[in-house]
Amino acid sequence: MSHDWPLSLSNPPEDLGHQWQYRILLGVDHQQNNRLLAALLGQFYSLQILPGPSPQWGQTYDLCIFDSLFFSRHTQEIAEQRRAASPVFLPFLLLAKQTHLPLLTVAQRQQVDDVITIPVDQTELLMRVESLLRTRQQSLKLSAMLAQEQLLEQQLQADNQILQKMATQDGLTGIANRRAFDEKLAYEWKLGRRERSSLVLVLCDVDYFKAYNDTYGHVLGDQCLRAIAGVLNTVIRRPADMAARYGGEEFALILPNTDTEGALHIVNRLRRTLQARAIPHQASSIRGTISLSFGLAEVIPTDPFDTSDLVRAADAALYCAKTEGRDRVIVAPPLDHQD
Ligand code: GH3
Ligand code: MG
Ligand code: MG
Repeated sequence: MSHDWPLSLSNPPEDLGHQWQYRILLGVDHQQNNRLLAALLGQFYSLQILPGPSPQWGQTYDLCIFDSLFFSRHTQEIAEQRRAASPVFLPFLLLAKQTHLPLLTVAQRQQVDDVITIPVDQTELLMRVESLLRTRQQSLKLSAMLAQEQLLEQQLQADNQILQKMATQDGLTGIANRRAFDEKLAYEWKLGRRERSSLVLVLCDVDYFKAYNDTYGHVLGDQCLRAIAGVLNTVIRRPADMAARYGGEEFALILPNTDTEGALHIVNRLRRTLQARAIPHQASSIRGTISLSFGLAEVIPTDPFDTSDLVRAADAALYCAKTEGRDRVIVAPPLDHQD
């Protein structure tokens, strides 16, 4: 290594201010140069000096200054340090004799962000150092902004998910709301028409629920609706099935790819589960417990019918279930046999 160091002291630097916030790592094997650099840079920056043959790289720093000897011994580690810092810019400044530069391999050149040749002018050195540190700071700022933006993006996505849920979920019971029901029915209608598969709609309504509210109060009334929604949710098994709150104390089941027999199976399971829950309803003339009336309509979606015809058919069947004494299931006649 060169002994025609030191820095040119004829050109003293202006006061750069105390830039202690920057940490510089010195990897200079040449003892005298190391001392000179430490004395100069130590006035302005916080220094870490890599001692010995196998230095500890672990601490954070903003710039690494190294000489040719150190570079040839630690090319691999320097490459790793750069990779670890990415995408934040971590500058590496090489101090080398002019005559050493052509000896650098392409891979080595890729590890160097700037070079300063020996003998070194101290003002030039300090300006290079400042410039690299400025770029480093900009890169850090940019990366912090990016991280902030990513955080906001994640927050936005989470908010959107909540909004989406709120738009399709019934606030009281947590099952699908009327809007989700309408969308699902329209979707399954189209699918059923294309695939010529049967679709069942079940509408159900709590029996004597006004009397339930009058007897137990609205708070228990709400609790009862939540319990019924829970039962509806447990009896549907296929991913394509949907239990929804149709409105007030009315609920609905959309059962795609299902015929009347299969749907009755589900409805009967629902009734058995509800009976087993035995939610007291002393004002009900039926059993003294909560019961539901059901209207069931099956269709293979075809023109000229549409979803409103299916809803009307299920609703008419539900009405029959009510007038015939409640706590029962009535199956609607096929759509083309409706009055
Ligand atoms: P039916 O057997 O003929 O269905 O009689 P019903 O009393 O259940 O029917 P009606 O339509 O007269 O009353 C429905 C009741 O449902 C009245 C209304 O206050 C109650 N209700 C509707 N939505 C809610 C709700 O979100 N919470 C509570 N607690 N009650 C509700
Ligand atoms: Mg009702
Ligand atoms: Mg009712």
